[in-house]
Amino acid sequence: MKLHTKILLGLALGAIAGVTVNMTAGDASWVAAVNRYVTGPVGQIFLRLLFMVVIPLVFATLSLGVAGLGDLKNLGRVGGKTLAYFLISTCLAAAVGLVLVNTVRPGEGLPPETVQELQSLYAGQAEERLAASGAEDFGIETFVNIVPRNPVASAASMDMLGVIFFAIVFGIALAMIPAARAAPMLRVLEALAEAVTKIIDLAMRLAPYGVFALIFVVTSTFGWGLLRQLALYVAVVLAGLLIHAAVTLSLLLRGLAGLSPIRFWSKIRDVVITAFSTSSSNATLPTTLVVAERALRIPPRIGGFVLPLGATMNMNGTALFEGVTVLFIAQVFGIDLPIAKQAIVVVLSVLTAVGAAGVPGGSIPLLMVMATSVGVPGEGIALILGVDRILDMSRTVLNVSGDLTAACVVARSEGEWSAADVDAADEEVFAEEPLDEAPAVYEPPRL
Ligand code: ASP
Repeated sequence: MKLHTKILLGLALGAIAGVTVNMTAGDASWVAAVNRYVTGPVGQIFLRLLFMVVIPLVFATLSLGVAGLGDLKNLGRVGGKTLAYFLISTCLAAAVGLVLVNTVRPGEGLPPETVQELQSLYAGQAEERLAASGAEDFGIETFVNIVPRNPVASAASMDMLGVIFFAIVFGIALAMIPAARAAPMLRVLEALAEAVTKIIDLAMRLAPYGVFALIFVVTSTFGWGLLRQLALYVAVVLAGLLIHAAVTLSLLLRGLAGLSPIRFWSKIRDVVITAFSTSSSNATLPTTLVVAERALRIPPRIGGFVLPLGATMNMNGTALFEGVTVLFIAQVFGIDLPIAKQAIVVVLSVLTAVGAAGVPGGSIPLLMVMATSVGVPGEGIALILGVDRILDMSRTVLNVSGDLTAACVVARSEGEWSAADVDAADEEVFAEEPLDEAPAVYEPPRL
């Protein structure tokens, strides 16, 4: 059986088993024991294997990607296009969400008892999350902090923006020193990237079990009752994500990358499943990079640049979710947000989507800050915390597929890739043997 079929099977079986257990024996102590001693640890180990490679992978691929662009002019052009694409697609996502939430108005029908109940249940948790993140002072410091004082400390605390900044500067410097002197470092980075990619191949062989375990834990312990109470809100977020995937991203793919959306989605299914089960763009990044190179044939110097940046900065699903949620809470509390304020919501959604960490629930603390700044009570987040996991899984899928779309668009616009390249791609992405004679993909910069 092919690996991706196995992963898909893991997802389906895990979900079926978890839902069944939840419905028949939800509160039984053995369910908690299984999750504590078996499925929990298995899922965590899989997740950690992916997290383990993120820092070396981001550092190696990003500095190689930047160095591979050759000079600052190229870097400026590719960087400009990438950021412009991130910005436009994230704005579009937030706009889709706002149109939907204004049309359906899911917050208006919510019974006051439910609001009360949810508030008292999750209020403490909401405060904890905000305090733990230190996101209260989202402001100019957030930007200053992008420049790390100590890149090793950034790496140790998984501060991705700091690592990204250092990797970009390092790559630029490598392209600026004489090619002969840069060459040994580039070789080291290439070998590092390759070894880490091998680890991903190995980790992905555990994916069927890891995915099964992760999904089982969520579905077996999930309170479905809450889902019913918040059904309309959940439906609006999911419908928005679906529309953004099926319409917006697909049009961008067809129009700007010349790639059939159906091919795209079928090629990236491993990424979709990994994002869905891990709820983390960062944990998915290793898979994303490998799939981009092997299944879509995106040149590594484009993929290596766009994808690590995208995992941290480009979060279409998160922006959509944040916009919908802030308006939902406003509706619940009967606060009318005029169109000008809603425009601010779009801007803030985009900004906080850039600032949110690519980890499970990474956007929640920023969401509270954002709600407060448009006059919506931040504690209102308590209303949705109970269903956030399901939404988190779904928006993460959009976050990473948005990154892959960006990579296709930028690669095509650079004339370095076309949809025809996908035909030459490998069917089996995570192979046991090297797929082809590893080409020296990163030419030393020509200076
Ligand atoms: N879990 C999301 C991600 O990693 C971030 C979020 O919206 O909470 O992409």
